[in-house]
Amino acid sequence: MGEVFTGSFTQQEPLPEASIAAAEAVLRHGRLHRYNTAEGEIAETALLEEEFAARTGAAFCLAVASGGYALGCALRACGVTPGDTVLTNAFTLAPVPGAIAGVGAVPVLVGVTDALVIDLEDLAAKLDRARVLLLSHMRGHICDMDRLMDLCDAAGVTVIEDCAHTMGAAWNGRPTGRWGLMGCFSTQTYKHVNSGEGGLLISDDAEAMARAVLLSGSYMLYGRHRAAPPPEAFAELRYAVPNISGRMDNLRAAILRPQLRALTRQAGRWNDRYRKVAEGLADVPGLVVPARPAAEQFVASSIQFLLPDRSETEVAAVVAGCAARGVELKWFGAAEPVGFTSDYGSWRYAPQDRLPATDRVLAGLLDMRLPLTFSLDDCALIARIIRAVVTEVLTPARGAA
Ligand SMILES: *Cc1c(COP(=O)(O)O)cnc(C)c1O
Repeated sequence: MGEVFTGSFTQQEPLPEASIAAAEAVLRHGRLHRYNTAEGEIAETALLEEEFAARTGAAFCLAVASGGYALGCALRACGVTPGDTVLTNAFTLAPVPGAIAGVGAVPVLVGVTDALVIDLEDLAAKLDRARVLLLSHMRGHICDMDRLMDLCDAAGVTVIEDCAHTMGAAWNGRPTGRWGLMGCFSTQTYKHVNSGEGGLLISDDAEAMARAVLLSGSYMLYGRHRAAPPPEAFAELRYAVPNISGRMDNLRAAILRPQLRALTRQAGRWNDRYRKVAEGLADVPGLVVPARPAAEQFVASSIQFLLPDRSETEVAAVVAGCAARGVELKWFGAAEPVGFTSDYGSWRYAPQDRLPATDRVLAGLLDMRLPLTFSLDDCALIARIIRAVVTEVLTPARGAA
């Protein structure tokens, strides 16, 4: 059968020693709740917010319980109410349409291109159908943000960015999350920093962020934040905005702060792995690794490739052949949702017309995680296995009719 890979696609690196030490300090003093501070103490959560705001250049930052919570909180903070429509990507993961449904709003899906970014033509055609776009930088692919913002600004559509896969990434030098009114990040185990669960929300907009802080469950303790708008921004809102608790705690924040300091280095290591696999997959007949524009400063914690215009049987055979050799591929075009993949048709709470161009892309779209526990040799081996399987499946057997 040839070479086999035996590593785990779901094993992240252990947390850095500095995170372990910081966690131990919090466990020893016991003040895990973000507003439980000793005299003169600044909570880890408040420090994390301050540091993430500084890192991204945002005026304000709020740490919350999950990336999904950050999305829902941002939608509410931007004034989305039940029954509203919200534009979002057809190619994304379930927490995105789920966050829209969670506030009682209705997703309107926008197609994907074969570069795996939101289809700006389809978006332009649908901009009159909603006041808000929840833009997902799905799998780290960033669209032409200059053009997207021009389109949305001209139509008066507010942009919220889902940066679950783009922490540390930028378009034309401007970090993701800094283009729209709010940017939402996840610190869940499979993202670019790991606190098990967690989320971060950034914005320059004082009113939206004051709403988000109150929504997250700040009670009247918002004065203890260090990356929040000034007290005046809360003066009226504190009576009007409901508390929908979703705070981050000091243990998670303590674990995250050292990881943020290492993010640039880790991003480089992810991209080394991505390039190794992409290099190994170059020129495989029938397989396309989407080209990435120079303006996109990506952080590739996963890789995607396309088998354009292949039958379901062929794509399924590639997935099965790779699995038999230890290489786990996710197939976004599979008819039934499996693991974390899901076709937009499986979100039946938000029925949509089919998007034929998107269906064509998703039908041949395969996806693979690149945890940092993989060595560069592992990446080269994985690419050789994919190359061998794809070649075997897509090359008609000699002598076949
Ligand atoms: C993980 C993820 C989220 C939500 O993050 P959680 O922290 O798991 O709630 C949102 N969008 C995308 C694209 C994701 O992959």
